[in-house]
Amino acid sequence: MTVFDLEKLLFTPVAKDTNAIPTIFAFPNEYSVGITSLGYQIVWATLASRPDVEVSRLFTDIHESLPRQPELLGFSFSWELDYVNILTLLEFLEIPQDSNQRDNHHPLVFGGGPVLTANPEPFADFFDVILLGDGENLLHSFIDGYREIRDADRKTQLKFLAGIPGIYVPSLYEVTYHSLYGEIKSIVPLDDRIPPLIEKQTYRGNTLSASTVVTPKSAWENIYMVEVVRSCPEMCRFCLASYLTLPFRTADLSSLIASIDRGLQVTDRIGLLGASVTQHPEFETLLDYLGQSQYQDVRLSIASVRTNTLTEKLAATLAQRGTKSITIAVESGSEKIRQSINKKLTQDEIITAAINAKSGGLKGIKLYGMVGLPGEDDGDIEQTVQMMKEIKKVAPGLRLTLGCSTFVPKSHTPFQWFGVQSVAEKRLKYLEKQLRQQGIEFRPESYNWSVIQALISRGDRRLTPLLKLTRSYGDSLGSYKRAFKELKGQIPGLDFYVHQDWQFTQVLPWSHLKGPLPQETLVKHARIS
Ligand code: SF4
Repeated sequence: MTVFDLEKLLFTPVAKDTNAIPTIFAFPNEYSVGITSLGYQIVWATLASRPDVEVSRLFTDIHESLPRQPELLGFSFSWELDYVNILTLLEFLEIPQDSNQRDNHHPLVFGGGPVLTANPEPFADFFDVILLGDGENLLHSFIDGYREIRDADRKTQLKFLAGIPGIYVPSLYEVTYHSLYGEIKSIVPLDDRIPPLIEKQTYRGNTLSASTVVTPKSAWENIYMVEVVRSCPEMCRFCLASYLTLPFRTADLSSLIASIDRGLQVTDRIGLLGASVTQHPEFETLLDYLGQSQYQDVRLSIASVRTNTLTEKLAATLAQRGTKSITIAVESGSEKIRQSINKKLTQDEIITAAINAKSGGLKGIKLYGMVGLPGEDDGDIEQTVQMMKEIKKVAPGLRLTLGCSTFVPKSHTPFQWFGVQSVAEKRLKYLEKQLRQQGIEFRPESYNWSVIQALISRGDRRLTPLLKLTRSYGDSLGSYKRAFKELKGQIPGLDFYVHQDWQFTQVLPWSHLKGPLPQETLVKHARIS
């Protein structure tokens, strides 16, 4: 018996046409990680539901029976450091890593997902086709488009696909630079039939996604996931989950309830997903619905709770449904910083959330913060310490944790122009010392890995050799250092990508990829911070 035999499907794969397109759809990590990705599940089920596509799944540790001559190879890419696994899987399939080394006999390598939609440029050479934005309609446009030119040569195929909205063919754009180490000068299509701007696609239906498969082998055992909202209306200035996916969309309540009931036929564990779940306008009604006696054995988890929506009732419902602890993102204990990042949250609301968590019966609360935000000074860090002390005082007995990361600039957000501050490392250490003294658990994310995240987040095509070299050196932090050293004089340094503040006028690596908001709006939002 394989892990695939343990899956309970919530869709029916259809019989295949005789001439169906042999396709591999991969997740560049282990099965347990990939099958927990709602995005991966949806794309796989969409492909498996088309009679004209014969799809097999591939993970780093296991795969279904693979076609000998695949025509399409897709990757769902949701964590940037998984690029090493993409290269490993390409090697495993004996497909050249670089798109310009592939010929008519190789499958078209396509990719989608949050990493590629945010900034595909460091990985641009690995993909023939990148799908930008929501997959709902885009995936069908891609497959329908491919069918039209299935028998053409590779060049013709790519040129044709590049004309479909949301489809980006990196090899058809030329990037030039002011100097070897300097900014980008221009990004232009190779011929005038290729669109100069590629627009990220936005799905506007009122039924959002839900699990297409439930399995005991997923990272969250037997979970059925339902997407309650997409994007977030709060627009914190650093936040990719909000800015990249605007506008804020909410699932229709009746479709949500129908979806949850469908999931409950195969499991008792429901996960409500979205960047800002409790901001669904009918969230209270949904909570009342799940509060009915027939749902009392349902285990419920919520991906994200906005701090000022953490009521005692919500805490009590979650506590009764098996949740022990809740996470709220406050970003900083400093009112000044929260204002400058547009986090509309007061100190009182944070304190009230902790009190509600305790009185509702939850055992713990985890606050999530950041250091190194633009404009931050040592005094702001001290205020975070004070905030944690205050929470400990008003909600004694509640297990208190502060998770903390370093600010990393993300494309398509107003803070994309700000670099990582190296003082962040010192500030993480300061918080650790102060909070441990108070018996408050502190869980920092590695500063050095945040630097690597920033490198990839603001990277351009010149990073491709660096990424390959890093992988060959073992993919550790030291490997990045070694690769930079080896490529010294050939590519810009770490400082250029990671620490420098960039100019508003600068051509960005993703300037040719149109996000939800125009550049002028992002500049305006960055300036009022
Ligand atoms: S509230 Fe959270 S999800 Fe929403 S914009 Fe702010 S950080 Fe992003």
